[in-house]
Amino acid sequence: MSNFVVNIGVETHIQIKTKSKIFCDCSTEFTDKPNVNVCPICMGLPGTMPTLNFEVIPLALKTAIALNCIINRISGFARKNYFYPDLPKGYQITQHKFPLAHSGYIILKSGKKIRIRRLHIEEDTGKMIHDQDENSLLDFNRAGVPLMEIVTEPDFNSKEEVIEYLERLQRIVRYLDVSSANMESGEFRGEPNISIRKKEEGLLGVKTEIKNLNSFKAIEKGITFEIERQKMLLDGGQKIESVTMLYDEKKQTLKPMRKKESISDYRYFPEPDLPDIILSEDLIEKIKNTIPELPEKKVERFKREYNLNDEESEIICQYKDYADFFEKSILGIKNVKRLTNFYIREMPVILKEKRMGVKDLPFDSDKLNALFKMVDEEKINLNLAQNILKEISSTGEHPDIILKRAFESDLSEDDLKNLIIQVLDENKKEVERYKNGEEKLFGFLVGQCMKKTKNRFSPGKVNEILRNILTKK
Ligand SMILES: [Zn+2]
Repeated sequence: MSNFVVNIGVETHIQIKTKSKIFCDCSTEFTDKPNVNVCPICMGLPGTMPTLNFEVIPLALKTAIALNCIINRISGFARKNYFYPDLPKGYQITQHKFPLAHSGYIILKSGKKIRIRRLHIEEDTGKMIHDQDENSLLDFNRAGVPLMEIVTEPDFNSKEEVIEYLERLQRIVRYLDVSSANMESGEFRGEPNISIRKKEEGLLGVKTEIKNLNSFKAIEKGITFEIERQKMLLDGGQKIESVTMLYDEKKQTLKPMRKKESISDYRYFPEPDLPDIILSEDLIEKIKNTIPELPEKKVERFKREYNLNDEESEIICQYKDYADFFEKSILGIKNVKRLTNFYIREMPVILKEKRMGVKDLPFDSDKLNALFKMVDEEKINLNLAQNILKEISSTGEHPDIILKRAFESDLSEDDLKNLIIQVLDENKKEVERYKNGEEKLFGFLVGQCMKKTKNRFSPGKVNEILRNILTKK
């Protein structure tokens, strides 16, 4: 690849989280039943008129501000005309000359700035399904679902940069709560356009676009294939044609779908049925104030404030509600570092098992905070804390209650003494060495006793009785 320079731009379609579609009252809810969320407006029947769903504007605006865009105080809708079976009106209502926002950016970890050319709102099309009998079926549930399209400049030079950008963008829109942004359900679709050129050539090469990429893995593969394909063509002295390539998930291959339309083929013109969007300074200011701390900032702050490493902070900050839960649960804790693993290992296992988010857990951050305080104050060890967490996660009880129950077990103090004596018998050599001055073996013996008692007594209690016995012995 050394003789070639790769340039990639990315268009991302993101479903805006509203209850109803952008120009009618049909539900946006996902359903397997085809053509149930449809009406004459989103089916484009003659004589119908679209009405803008105003919920869309603040959500798109919030995204534009978070992506450092310049906001157009006046923007408008346009018709993009083309024929395709999944487009019932024969045109798509989108924004053309005057998008909602432009000239933003996202900064990658390396410090590289990816420029965002524009952010506009538009309606989604329907979905064409090809069945096994070679029938083509149409489902219009998605037709008219509100989307934001975010277009970058061709600033990427590798697939890794593209993936990082998309992951960051996905995390940002989730933090803003403007989209669920799940790729599998089509709420977040990244479409790279790729061109390669020989190093000595200054101008960008002819670009092709890849569609139908439903996962980050597919995007990575699609880009790799397309770069290879273009390289082979250029090496063979052939020209690259401006086409749209379709990614086939099953076969994991690319095939040309259609010759890419040029902008003039779309015969854009202003949408006559919808007024312009005029934004007041007040509204923009109001929306600005609703933007939470963004993920990149949070990751850095958590590293600083809680002494987390890069990876730990990234994992904890992946979802806003998870990061918020973390932060509340460690309030007033002195040694946070020691408890990080609860969020890297323990909690993800519980959430995965229960298939839920932190919001739906049977316990809140206060209960976890109470548990962490016990560890912080050395009342219990980490092992016991893990066990208690497991119990809280199924019963939702306060850790105090669980701890009390565990310690007020059916075993009495005499039982504990007997168990400790048993442990000392089993570890005679260590006891001998301890008596001869190897103080550190005391910790080892405590550990053995905790094991024997299956954590049913507090380390403090075990400590006390063990020391008593050892001094008497
Ligand atoms: Zn409708």
